[in-house]
Amino acid sequence: SATAEVIDGKAVAKQIRDEISAEVMRMKDAIGEVPGLAVIIVGNRKDSATYVRNKRKACESVGINSFEVPLPEDSTEEEVIKFIKEFNDDPSVHGILVQLPLPSHMNEENILNAVSIEKDVDGFHPLNIGHLAMRGREPMFVPCTPKGCIELLHRYGIDIKGKRAVVIGRSNIVGTPASQLLQREDATVTIVHSRTSNPEEITRQADIIISAVGKPNMVRGSWIKPGAVVIDVGINPVEDAKSPRGYRLVGDVCYDEAKNIASAITPVPGGVGPMTIAMLLSNTLISAKRAYNFQ
Ligand code: NDP
Repeated sequence: SATAEVIDGKAVAKQIRDEISAEVMRMKDAIGEVPGLAVIIVGNRKDSATYVRNKRKACESVGINSFEVPLPEDSTEEEVIKFIKEFNDDPSVHGILVQLPLPSHMNEENILNAVSIEKDVDGFHPLNIGHLAMRGREPMFVPCTPKGCIELLHRYGIDIKGKRAVVIGRSNIVGTPASQLLQREDATVTIVHSRTSNPEEITRQADIIISAVGKPNMVRGSWIKPGAVVIDVGINPVEDAKSPRGYRLVGDVCYDEAKNIASAITPVPGGVGPMTIAMLLSNTLISAKRAYNFQ
């Protein structure tokens, strides 16, 4: 059987970063300003530290200023909100993000509500989420991971309009906004979650599958309609004695089976992952252009 086209998120993300870099330079030449991103990280989770470091490196690589605020695990909610408010008022900061998850003694909702919607480059403020869900409204920012999924479909020339799409997962940061974006693109969307019975019967009807679950190899070849497009958001560590780290990362989709059935598929790693940071840079640039009224 035919082998699926590999959707190369790493290459697309590189191309997008180059485009952003050129725009940042054009902005600097024209008005002497560059975009700025502030990242607040509370506690010392290893994975969060890695994400934050990657975000800083990505900012540097395109000429975006980055401001990092590392706060101790036992900080109070008020302390975090104080920093957010300072950044809200700082004209050199165009994007503010709070690395999640927060320590359990903090109320995530209170903290995310404090970010000005004009600087909410993660797109997690309830007003941005609300506007994304409403017809005829435009959010200031769209959440980065789902935006990256749609961008991949666009850049590979994959039609969305009128197609049947199935999103697996309904989290606030990936599944739900992905389903809303697909709907805005005129797909007919079904959401599958942990209480869905016979999920494979539903996914088998999909022209486009976006999976954001966090279960390695859950989506088998038999779940996929021949010729469907598969976007695998999952990042799951599985034991691997051959790897120097003792583990490797796989998606939600059983890639070896899916590649013989799908028409196009994202690998893990190298698919959606690199797109998330590229979209964060894109949102920060959009915000700065808006703030300086620079087209
Ligand atoms: P969450 O744990 O917040 O959400 C998982 C979703 O999957 C839930 O809606 C849950 O359903 C659903 N689910 C769980 N088990 C099943 C099942 N057996 N069948 C169908 N649905 C199920 O995860 P996130 O959305 O934050 O992340 C999902 C995955 O994507 C993770 O692997 C994460 O690491 C990865 N990720 C990757 C990013 C990237 O940059 N590529 C960015 C963010 C996340 P229910 O609502 O009923 O509990």
